[in-house]
Amino acid sequence: MPRPIRARISLAALRHNLGVARRYAGQARVWAVVKANAYGHGLLRAAPAFTGADGYALLDIDEAVRLREAGYAQPILLLEGFFSFEDLPLLAEYRLTTVVHAMWQVEMLEASALPVAIPVLLKLNSGLNRLGFEAGEFRDAVQRLQRCRAVAGITLMTHFADADGSRGIASQLERFQAARSGLKLPVTMANSAALLRFPEIWARDPDAWVRPGIMLYGCSPFADKSAAELGLQPAMTLTSEIIGIQQLKPGDEVGYGGAFRAEKTMRVGTVACGYADGYPRHAPTGSPVLVAGKLTTSVGRVSMDMLGVDLTALPDAGVGSLVTLWGEGLDVDAVARHAGTVGYELLCALAPRVPVVEI
Ligand SMILES: *Cc1c(COP(=O)(O)O)cnc(C)c1O
Repeated sequence: MPRPIRARISLAALRHNLGVARRYAGQARVWAVVKANAYGHGLLRAAPAFTGADGYALLDIDEAVRLREAGYAQPILLLEGFFSFEDLPLLAEYRLTTVVHAMWQVEMLEASALPVAIPVLLKLNSGLNRLGFEAGEFRDAVQRLQRCRAVAGITLMTHFADADGSRGIASQLERFQAARSGLKLPVTMANSAALLRFPEIWARDPDAWVRPGIMLYGCSPFADKSAAELGLQPAMTLTSEIIGIQQLKPGDEVGYGGAFRAEKTMRVGTVACGYADGYPRHAPTGSPVLVAGKLTTSVGRVSMDMLGVDLTALPDAGVGSLVTLWGEGLDVDAVARHAGTVGYELLCALAPRVPVVEI
């Protein structure tokens, strides 16, 4: 029998969540962000659930090619753009759309003699200071790309730093609007948080594109609002089973480093799931875990292949009991919070050794 750990991926949940994004998007078009192997869900597994989107957005040219070769005819966007001059013929061959975030990319497009022109998203750095043009160079880049034979069309883009946080998007939005004033070109700005929080900015603009990622997978981009409150459904459920039971006396320790010490008599189950499966090693004792549908907590340090759970109050649980690490019935965002991270990181880190089942 194989090790009992499984990740179940619900295509119905992915489809449902895209529907939620669509409702918020109104007339705006939707890039389904499928970077990082569709946030750990599997690019080609998730892609069919997103055929209702207007395009796919990811980072890796290899992944873009795989998607195209699998028969997806929609626009496919490279969110970090191309990386070298040698990439350009591939972009033309596979009809990829690219971000252009720096002048060296403009120069390469100008120097290329591509057989097909490439659609471009020109990125303004409006304050995130990661990728993008400064406002002073942005206009110049627009003009050069408008004259460039290798470019098929230009959309103006920016990305927000704190769409989920207290500062919101106001100052970045203002810089973006100033940089594009007078330019009659389509725009794309919103990630999941901006789409959910400020939908009115794009919903009446059929020339706008939004770029939801995390919400498609059933996670909340907000610390103070759960995925369920947003009407999102978890797409990945990570389950395993109890494979061992230990009876503890007061003073007994659990796991490496003796990081947990029992103060009373306890019953602890050992779950076949560890950090080599993608469960966060930083999740401390007390992190939420479901055993046979009942909420309990982790015990001791997470090891490579196993972790402990408190079964003291669950006398019916034993070897073979189903354990849910996150997903249906247990919000991945709650587990992530205990581990000091975000749902994004947990989903993306699902390890290749975990068998995946589509439901
Ligand atoms: C990842 C990413 C998104 C999607 O962000 P979410 O927070 O997952 O919705 C949108 N735009 C860009 C440029 C990204 O890199």
